[in-house]
Amino acid sequence: MRNPITGKNVVIIGAGVGGLSAGILLALLDYRVTIVEKNPVTGGLMRSYRRGGIDCPVGVHYVGALGPDEPLGRMFDVLGLSVDDLFYRIGGDGVIDRYLFDDFVFDLPTGQDAYENNLRIACPADGRALDSLMKNLRDIAAGMLKPSFFLNTGDPFQNMESFRPMGELLDELAVSARLRAILAVPCQLIGVDLDDCPVIFHSMVLAGYLFSSWRLKDGGARMADVFTARFAELGGELLTGSPVQKIHVAGKKVTGVSLACGRMLPADGVVAAIHPKALLGLLDEDVLRESVRERILSLAETEGVIALQAGVDARAHAAMDHNIYRLFCGAEGAIADGVFCQIRPGGTDGTNLLSIISRSLYRDWRPWENTRTGRRGDAYREKKQAIAGQLLEKAADIFGPFKDLRLLDVFTPLTLRDYVNCPEGSCYGVLRSSRQLLKVASLNNLPVAGLCLAGQNALAPGVLGAVLGSFAAARQVAGEKRFLAEMARQL
Ligand SMILES: Cc1cc2nc3c(=O)[nH]c(=O)nc-3n(C[C@H](O)[C@H](O)[C@H](O)COP(=O)(O)OP(=O)(O)OC[C@H]3O[C@@H](n4cnc5c(N)ncnc54)[C@H](O)[C@@H]3O)c2cc1C
Repeated sequence: MRNPITGKNVVIIGAGVGGLSAGILLALLDYRVTIVEKNPVTGGLMRSYRRGGIDCPVGVHYVGALGPDEPLGRMFDVLGLSVDDLFYRIGGDGVIDRYLFDDFVFDLPTGQDAYENNLRIACPADGRALDSLMKNLRDIAAGMLKPSFFLNTGDPFQNMESFRPMGELLDELAVSARLRAILAVPCQLIGVDLDDCPVIFHSMVLAGYLFSSWRLKDGGARMADVFTARFAELGGELLTGSPVQKIHVAGKKVTGVSLACGRMLPADGVVAAIHPKALLGLLDEDVLRESVRERILSLAETEGVIALQAGVDARAHAAMDHNIYRLFCGAEGAIADGVFCQIRPGGTDGTNLLSIISRSLYRDWRPWENTRTGRRGDAYREKKQAIAGQLLEKAADIFGPFKDLRLLDVFTPLTLRDYVNCPEGSCYGVLRSSRQLLKVASLNNLPVAGLCLAGQNALAPGVLGAVLGSFAAARQVAGEKRFLAEMARQL
C-alpha cells in the first residue's frame, strides 16, 4: 500500500493470528473493522481441534520471545492480551529442545550464554567460527529488543550481511558438519533449507526461543477465542462461514469486497491476511500488471508437513516440558529427514498427547489434489496410516514401545490447504529464502491504493512473524506518522 487510507472502514480477510492481531490494532487506532473468515470458526492455524476428548494443536506448539521486554511480549501488551493467561514458560529444566542425532545429542537451553556454552562443548573445533556466529546472533537479538523492530521504523538490521544465506556464511567459516547440523534446526522451523536461509531469519527464530520459550496452557482453541474476544471488545465486527470471493477495485483503489454468500462490504482499505496467491484469485486479472501477477505466482512455497496426534498412557509416557527433534543427517551435516515430537498432558485422566510432525511433500499427495477434506477415499486413508506407522516407529525408538496408544488423527498438506487456503498446503507460506528475498519483499508494496497483506506472508512466519506482519499492516493503513504517535502513547 503506497499511502495511508483516507476513510475509516477496513475489511480484513482471514481471522488467523495475523488477521485478528491486525484487526485488534486497527480497532485500537479507531478504524471500523470487519474481519471476514471463510471457516465457521476463527483462528486459522492457531486454532486447535478436539479428537477423543483431547485438544490437538495445529500451528502453535511453542512460541518464543513472549517475556515482558521481548518483542512478542511487548506486542501482546500493545494488543491488550495477557501472556500469562494464555501461556506458561518452558525450559525450566534447562532444555527447550533436545536435538537427537545419530551420534550425539544437543540441548537448546534458555539464554544466549547457555547456548554458546553448549555449542562450544558440542563443537570444540569450531571455536573461531563460534566467535563470529555468536556475535552475529547477539547483534540481531539486541536489535529485536528495540521497539524499532516491531514498529518497523528505520532498519534495525542495516547490515547487508544479515541477508546472505547461512550456508554461504558457514562455508566461509569452514564449520564442522556437527555445527552445521545443529544450526540447521532453526531453519527447519521456518521451512527454509539452511543453505538458502537468510542469516537474519535464522537468528530471529533462534534468538526468539533463546529469550524465552512458552507453551499454551489451554490450547490453541482458547488462544483463538481470546484474540477474537479482544477484537469484539474493541467493537470489531466478525463475519464467519463465507469466504471473500472478490476484492473490488476502481481506478487502482480498493472500494470493497464481496462474499460468497452474496454480501457486499464497502471498504476504504482491505488487509489480506491470507496467502498472496490466494489474494490474486480475489482480484480481476487487469488489477495487477502481468509482471506482478507472474512474480507472485512464481513464488516458491515452504514445504508441507504431515502431523500425527495420538493418546498414550500417561504413567508410561510422562509429559515432557521440552520438545524432541530426531534428526537424520546426510553428508556434511545437511539434515535429510527428521521428526518433531511433543508429549504433553492430554487433559483427560491417564492419557497424554503425543504429537509428531514431519516433512511431507505436496507432490506426494498429487493423486488426491482435486479432492476435498473428508472425501478422499480409502487409498488416501491407507497412505496416511502407513506414514503414521513409520512415524510411530521413529518415535518408539526415542520413547520406547508405546503403551495404550490410540491414534487420534493424521493431517496432511492437503488438509491444511483446504482448511486455510494455502497453496500446496505450505506450512509457513511463501519461502523466505535468500534466493527469493527480493520477490518476497515486493509483496509489502502492492500497487493498489488501500490494499496490503498481513499474516505470516507479509513479514515472517510463525506466531512472532504473523503478529509482526500485523503491525506492519496497521502502519501501512494508518500511515507512519499516526501509527507511531499512537504507539508512542501505548508503549
Ligand atoms: C503444523 C504447523 C506447526 C506450526 N507450529 C508453530 C509453532 O510451534 N510456533 C509458531 O510460532 N508457529 C508455528 N506454526 C506457524 C504458525 O501457525 C503460522 O505462522 C501462523 O498461525 C499463521 O497465521 P496467519 O494468520 O498468517 O495465517 P492462517 O492461520 O493461515 O490464517 C489465514 C486465515 O484466512 C482464512 N482465509 C483464507 N482465504 C480466505 C478468504 N478468501 N476469505 C476469508 N477467509 C479466508 C483462512 O481460513 C484462515 O483462517 C506452525 C504451522 C504449522 C502448519
